[in-house]
Amino acid sequence: AEDAQYVASLIRTTPDFPKPGIHFRDFTPIMTDARALRLMLVALERTLPVPADQIDLVAGLEARGFLMGPALAAHLGKGFVPVRKAGKLPPETLKQSYALEYGTASIEIETEAVRDGQRVLIVDDLIATGGTAAAAAKLVELAGGKVAGFSFVMELQGLDGRAQLGDYPVTALTEMP
Ligand code: IMP
Repeated sequence: AEDAQYVASLIRTTPDFPKPGIHFRDFTPIMTDARALRLMLVALERTLPVPADQIDLVAGLEARGFLMGPALAAHLGKGFVPVRKAGKLPPETLKQSYALEYGTASIEIETEAVRDGQRVLIVDDLIATGGTAAAAAKLVELAGGKVAGFSFVMELQGLDGRAQLGDYPVTALTEMP
């Protein structure tokens, strides 16, 4: 519990970034701190939404899911697949659009990155409305994979992001207002 508190204490909040009214939650100070980085990875591993032997592959969401995703995958002895913002990956890709507060966004995955039936753990730094994570789940399924569950470092309260993720198991290390 002391360790969890130490890790959470390093999360930095920047008011009015990137837009007025948004409290930006930044976990990069955890990444910079050698002890916290290790504790965070151990905590993610201990709180996996399903046992590690029910996961074949870790998928991380651009950009902050790329910071902890590969480290967690290596810890677990799994491969890593990047889910990128549209237009960054060479073809063949699968694409999924999702709603933002204003407008839409699209993310992509390489068609061949997931083999049929592979069980994929989806990871990101933070879940807010859940729109990004839900779109990533659709991509994994379009690619022929199965969603094993979701791991987040931070979960914003009051947005009910988990509701977007249906019955998939979800864990988050810290909840934030
Ligand atoms: P959602 O789709 O509303 O759940 O938003 C989650 C996505 O937006 C994730 O990819 C996050 O990295 C990013 N995001 C939203 N708010 C924040 C924040 O306060 N800090 C860092 N990333 C955020």
